[in-house]
Amino acid sequence: MSTPRIEINIKKIAHNTKTLIRLYGSKGIDVIGVTKVVCGNPHVAAAMVQNGIRILADSRIVNLRKMRNAGLRAEFLLLRTPLLSQAKSVAKYADISLNSELSVIKALSKIAETNGKKHKIILMIEMGDLREGIMPSDLDDIVEQVMTLKGIELVGVGTNLACFGGIKPDEEKMVYLSTITRNIEEKFNIKLKCVSGGNSANYNWFMSTKNVGRINNLRLGESIHLGCETLYRKPIPELYTDAFTLVAEVIEAKIKPSLPFGEIAQDAFGNLPKFKDQGKINRAILGIGLQDIQVSGLTPRADVKILGASSDHIIIDASNVEVKTGDELKFDLNYSALLSAMTSPYVLKKIKVSLWMLKNIAKALNKNTANIKNYFQQSLLKKTSLN
Ligand SMILES: *Cc1c(COP(=O)(O)O)cnc(C)c1O
Repeated sequence: MSTPRIEINIKKIAHNTKTLIRLYGSKGIDVIGVTKVVCGNPHVAAAMVQNGIRILADSRIVNLRKMRNAGLRAEFLLLRTPLLSQAKSVAKYADISLNSELSVIKALSKIAETNGKKHKIILMIEMGDLREGIMPSDLDDIVEQVMTLKGIELVGVGTNLACFGGIKPDEEKMVYLSTITRNIEEKFNIKLKCVSGGNSANYNWFMSTKNVGRINNLRLGESIHLGCETLYRKPIPELYTDAFTLVAEVIEAKIKPSLPFGEIAQDAFGNLPKFKDQGKINRAILGIGLQDIQVSGLTPRADVKILGASSDHIIIDASNVEVKTGDELKFDLNYSALLSAMTSPYVLKKIKVSLWMLKNIAKALNKNTANIKNYFQQSLLKKTSLN
């Protein structure tokens, strides 16, 4: 089988989904399944839906379209606050979107009205992380204007932390979000169905809080896919952290010096490299590089060390294991490595799935099992997962 490839164990993602839904459900919190790190891969999304996810969320319209067109029976939510220029396709492919700009919400309303339906929105509130969100002091004014828009249904409020500023979604922030929710409900005499407290970084808060307050929703990506929380990247008990495996192939294996010889100038990326002399070592080159993957996010499963990388090569120290040309080496991926591998058209996506799972996925995708086999075969041959 060709390399480099990323092997996706759907059964493990299904297990993680089910376990997280049960965990968060124990305190009344609903889970939205986030698919952006797998570029809206319909098989992964189907496993999520089959295990209890009712809303699939992605940051890009192309991914929402891909999942919708695959026939997934779920609601679709756009995570990234919409581009004004894309308002039309947002209204078309997303049932719900997260919003922080009145001009965009007005545009969405207009389009929804023309289509004769309502577009649901969740207003994002700035709570310190300084990515998207309305400043709390401006909220009342915006809600008041949103309430007058005929094409919009305000279904809730939300916040996003631990993304840009690295700010923790702690008890204080969550209590504040609950308070904001109650204030809006009282002032405008409405009921907000959804209070979305954050993402995979909310795990520690959830485990330690005695009262989740009004928070009844989280949007989870990384903890479903990689089985960890995201404040300290600790594994969550009972979850798989190895649903994804990167496989690369050895294209050269030789005993060579550990120190480059000759006069040192810039490397391929303009750095002045420094090396330690360890005498001659077993070195190997892998047929994968920065054009395929964020190399710094890889952890070898074998006892080898990554020495460096260029666009198309990773160089490893293979002193402790025997490798020869043609051998395959496996790696764990962190979030950014996974993101880059899934996005790269050069990395084959190989989906490991049991017949039982295949049948379930067929159900979620509304296809019969004979068709789904064919569908899998095709997506296996298709190297790109874009569009
Ligand atoms: C990506 C994203 C999420 C999911 O974050 P994870 O850390 O993967 O759980 C949730 N909300 C928004 C707005 C996002 O952009």
